[in-house]
Parts: sequence; structure tokens; C-alpha cells
Amino acid sequence: MAIFYVSDMSLNIVKHPLVDKILTDLRDENTQDSRFRILGKQVTYFLLIEATKNLATKPRRIRTPLSDFDGVDLAQSIVIVPILRSGLAMLEPAIDLFQDASVGYIGLERNEKTAVAGTYYCKFPVMKDKFVMIVDPMLATGHSAELAIEAVLKTGPAHVVMISIVAAPEGVKHLEKNYPNVPIYAAAIDEKLNDKKFIVPGLGDFGDRAYGTK
Ligand code: URA
Repeated sequence: MAIFYVSDMSLNIVKHPLVDKILTDLRDENTQDSRFRILGKQVTYFLLIEATKNLATKPRRIRTPLSDFDGVDLAQSIVIVPILRSGLAMLEPAIDLFQDASVGYIGLERNEKTAVAGTYYCKFPVMKDKFVMIVDPMLATGHSAELAIEAVLKTGPAHVVMISIVAAPEGVKHLEKNYPNVPIYAAAIDEKLNDKKFIVPGLGDFGDRAYGTK
């Protein structure tokens, strides 16, 4: 199997002026649901590109209309694992960029009173030796991410990365302590969690805003 380097940093904040602008629009409470969904997809492209920038490639010789050309293919099979339901908002850009990727679904529900998550659905493709990207827009306490990472690690992947749009320091700390080999990619690390375990300043309930269920 090809050996490749992913990231030596646990937390990777993607810096780009357009990311900051998209994030501001996402945070704005006046942003309508339809636009919120589009913005969520846009920022996800940046995160995916950053998280995969060190993927190994293998040679592929092709012919252009004018000459031979030594090009490349990705050397690693990719699996996207959206955490239901908010993670679904990040799936479309992921399979748009990685069209050969397979998709594993994990459904976690957070008890609104205790903020503790439990698994209600899990269906994974073969993930052994693959590059697995877990996507969930809000990394809050880190407990949902932990359940997803635990489930994914049992399948023997080559690499696991966690991709979120906004992260809370509490969630980052939790993952860094328990899964130092799982790099986190986010567009921002916010100030804190409030007493309901929502990220502050954050952008509210991502699923509610994306799917109009407020
Ligand atoms: N989930 C959300 O949708 N928002 C938060 O702030 C935290 C968890």
C-alpha cells in the first residue's frame, strides 16, 4: 500500500478570504435556508481540498488531442461518512469532488437535555485501508465525532480525518486528547459552548437552518 502523509497537525483551520466571507453569511441569522445550504456546500469544498492536499497519486499516461501526457490518478480509495443529519449538507460537494468515493452513513441523535449522542443508524461500505473523511458541520462537544470515529476505526481504515465547518475548543480538545492521529479540518474555531452545548458565536442549529425545521 502507498505510504502518504496527511497532516502533522491535529487542528487545521482553513484560511482564505472567501471562506471568512462565506462563514460570515452562514453565521448571519438573516440568511435564508436556501442560501444557507448553498453556503454550507461552498465552504465544504475548501475544507475537502485542504484535507486531501497530501493524498498520494499514481502515474497515468494519457493522450491529449496533441500528444502523450504523463498524468496522475489518486492512489487512495476514499470513503465519505456524513454524520446524519447535518453531515448530509456536506456530502454533495464531497461526492462531487471525489466521484469514485463510497459513502458510509452514521446516524447520531443528540438528546437535547443531556446533549449526549447515541447511534440510531450505521451502514458502512468496506473501509479497510481506505481514506475516510467524516463530515459533520458542527464539532461541538466532540461526543458525536467520537462515536463516529470509534465506529470507523473498527473497520481498519488507512487514515481518518474529521471535517467540520465550525469547531468549539471543547470538541477539539476532546478529539485531540483521544484521537491524536485524526486530524481535524475546520473553517473556524469559535469561542465556547453555551449551557445547551451550542457553539458560540456559531451559527445556530445547522440542521434546522439547512432543512427548515426550526
Ligand atoms: N449542532 C449545531 O447544529 N449547532 C451547534 O452550535 C452545536 C451542535
